[in-house]
Amino acid sequence: MRDPKYIFVVGGVMSGVGKGVATASIGRILKARGFRVTSVKIDPYVNVDAGTMNPTEHGEVFVLDDGTECDQDLGNYERFLDRDLSNANYMTTGSIYLSVINRERSLGYGGACVEVVPHIPLEVIARINRAVKQDKAEMVTIEIGGTVGEYQNVLFLEAIRMLKIKHPKDVLLVLVSYLPLQNKDNELKTKPTQYAVRTLNSAGLQPDIVIARAPLRLDGKRKAKIAFNCGLEKEDIISAPDVSSIYEIPVNFEKEKISERILPKFGLKPRAKDLADFRRLVTRIRGSKKPVRIGIVGKYFGSGSFMLADSYISVIEAIKHAAYHFRREPVIEWINAEKLGDLSKYHGLIVPGGFGSRGVEGKIKAITYAREKKVPFLGLCYGMQLATIEYARHVAKLARANTTEVNSRTPHPVIDILPEQKEKLEKADYGGTMRLGACPAILSKGTIAYGAYQANKISERHRHRYEVNPEYIAKLEKKGLIFSGRSPDHRLMEIMELPRKIHPFFVGTQFHPELKSRPLSPHPLFREFIKAAIKK
Ligand code: GLN
Repeated sequence: MRDPKYIFVVGGVMSGVGKGVATASIGRILKARGFRVTSVKIDPYVNVDAGTMNPTEHGEVFVLDDGTECDQDLGNYERFLDRDLSNANYMTTGSIYLSVINRERSLGYGGACVEVVPHIPLEVIARINRAVKQDKAEMVTIEIGGTVGEYQNVLFLEAIRMLKIKHPKDVLLVLVSYLPLQNKDNELKTKPTQYAVRTLNSAGLQPDIVIARAPLRLDGKRKAKIAFNCGLEKEDIISAPDVSSIYEIPVNFEKEKISERILPKFGLKPRAKDLADFRRLVTRIRGSKKPVRIGIVGKYFGSGSFMLADSYISVIEAIKHAAYHFRREPVIEWINAEKLGDLSKYHGLIVPGGFGSRGVEGKIKAITYAREKKVPFLGLCYGMQLATIEYARHVAKLARANTTEVNSRTPHPVIDILPEQKEKLEKADYGGTMRLGACPAILSKGTIAYGAYQANKISERHRHRYEVNPEYIAKLEKKGLIFSGRSPDHRLMEIMELPRKIHPFFVGTQFHPELKSRPLSPHPLFREFIKAAIKK
């Protein structure tokens, strides 16, 4: 195989302007051009993974098949590239130092003095190469979290510089910058971007492409200004105005001919051009006018709707994928579990994953409403556990049934800690210790789940410590609850549902189906949920 091509993506001016989606879009475009692409995300946190970070501050914790708890951008990569990634595709400052220190402890450096430079950047490079090798990639996009000029990503910039010395023709640097709008003259201002480029220059780097994120399209004059002041060609400035759907971005980048700029810099010719699937998707999204109104019941409401959208990004995207499939406009609203309000306006209700006791009683009330009023309901992880509790309390008449996560002395612990999790909690061993990643489940014929998946055996991603208590399974089944998906050894209940005769769509999953939904292939359970919501 030839040497791989490295495309680094860094941010300038400010964060939160869609660097992850820009990186994912570049990956998608190069894939459409016929290259085998993989993606790596580098997070500047000292946390070893994202599992110990609060989602309302850092966004959703995404989970991969192998159980890696990572940044939500890995979700963007998987959705855009339409492939599964692994631990090799994610690193943090913490995980990098951890492996360097472990290697030093086992004499892995053979007596050398181990230093921040060069050993930390070299470890970064080694890890990128590991991902390339594992994924047999010809090209790799590497996104560096944060923005240039931050103290904490200096060592990552140094890794780029070092790699470039060895492979001058194989390394490309993309700066995703932001141009603020000066409202007085309605002008996009280029100066902050010029400063960002200068900051890169002082780290020994020059960007090859600048993606100009802005509220508006960038005109030729502004492009020329950035190009002249930063030593680039005008064509290397890619305009990236705000869009209504992120799935338009690969299409927009190609309108700006980004791949025709990237490939020649590597001395490569495009092999194919096939973004047709994304173009069709964009047309479909634009044609989705009639609304389907979905309420998400959650507790995180002090954080503002931006953070909320960020902490449930995969749930939101999964709803969108399914809604677009039926050419419906997804209208997603947040319902505060602590004051529910009028639930009658929703075509469907979702109780997503969560931890702890706040908001739990409100979520259970919303579930009672969905069950009694026959509103399509989807419970995800905690949502499934709470739906089981709701059924135990109100149908099986097990008064004060609960999860031991909320009340350790409940008379009916219908949801209880997984035996293997008990010790870990006692030892405060929290990092990376939940039941994590892909697990198989066996489905029962004739159920909603079976009808959705059209399969006996499925694989879905998990992230939890509690489960349906085996002692209550028979009792609940006797009262009409169906456990339609179980672990192969029948010990763990993975899907619960109500019979179609009783309710049009009432399903809860112990796993997180949202993590595996893709824009071009919506998740079967979300698809059936939205279908039922549309019927309502
Ligand atoms: N708190 C629950 C558990 O740990 C649910 C977790 C989740 O929703 N991801 O089992």
